[in-house]
Amino acid sequence: MIPPIARSFVAGEVPATAITHVAGLNERNVGGILNLLGEHYEEPADATADAEEYVTLVQDIAAADLDACISVKPSQLGLDLGADVFEGHLERIVAAGQEHDVFVWIDMEDHTTTNVTLDAFEHHARATDGDVGVCVQANLERTRSDLDRLAELPGKVRLVKGAYDEPSAIAHTSKKAIDDAFRACIRQAFETFDDGVAVASHDPEMIALAEECHDEYGTPYEVQMLMGVRETAQYELAESRPVYQYVPYGNRWLSYFYRRIRERKGNALFALRAVLTS
Ligand code: FAD
Repeated sequence: MIPPIARSFVAGEVPATAITHVAGLNERNVGGILNLLGEHYEEPADATADAEEYVTLVQDIAAADLDACISVKPSQLGLDLGADVFEGHLERIVAAGQEHDVFVWIDMEDHTTTNVTLDAFEHHARATDGDVGVCVQANLERTRSDLDRLAELPGKVRLVKGAYDEPSAIAHTSKKAIDDAFRACIRQAFETFDDGVAVASHDPEMIALAEECHDEYGTPYEVQMLMGVRETAQYELAESRPVYQYVPYGNRWLSYFYRRIRERKGNALFALRAVLTS
């Protein structure tokens, strides 16, 4: 069972609780991005089980008529076992998404997975004419040129600062350099993309920049934030633009919860306050 302290960040252990959470978000004009927690599987059966759960989840989202999509991790779909394992599972999930009109995002993991992830995205972006999205990370030096490649493709792109500690030979590592790179990626994406940009950040300055670029270039965009982080801001922003909340669920919640706490002391205080006031 998920302890009360983690419940602010994780929508329960089973799909039904996550679906209920997203229904509540939809009432407040916020969409849901459902993510079944799991990564770096070494057993083929784990990747197969998660792929099957995503297929069922897509059906559940459609049956409940939710404003929701899903987001999958390559290593959850078996990338560590082989690119063919990942691609096979992704193929099934994207086919289910197509059948039920549910958008499929691909999360981006560490830099060793960037090429295979972008290649898989390109394949499905072309095959579905844009019913998939991929995440790119501003902390990687390669990302500005990856954005040139992505601008030629249908589909949506999620811009993030980057959650993985990457080597300084290939990545910006100081907060200032990452923030500068993120600003540059936002400007480039709004200037060159047609199908839409997702700015996934809790940073008010970056969200203001996205709005400014939207006014300048007219590119459609959405803001994405995590469950449990700046939720009041999510509801306020949703009054004037599309907002999606990333909603993780599942029984592998422990490492995700620790990541949120490590990321920011304020998250620990928020989780504690939620427990004390519940
Ligand atoms: P930060 O630099 O962490 O924070 C900037 C400012 O935001 C702070 O100064 C503060 O003003 C505000 N802020 C941040 N947190 C809080 C808080 N708890 N309370 C109040 N204010 C706060 N990373 C990947 O590598 N791959 C992915 O696929 C990926 N997908 C993501 C999907 C979504 C929807 C989101 C939101 C993030 C994703 N990330 C992903 C994580 C991302 O890379 C960052 O690590 C994470 O979002 C933190 O960066 P930030 O832009 O929010 O800004």
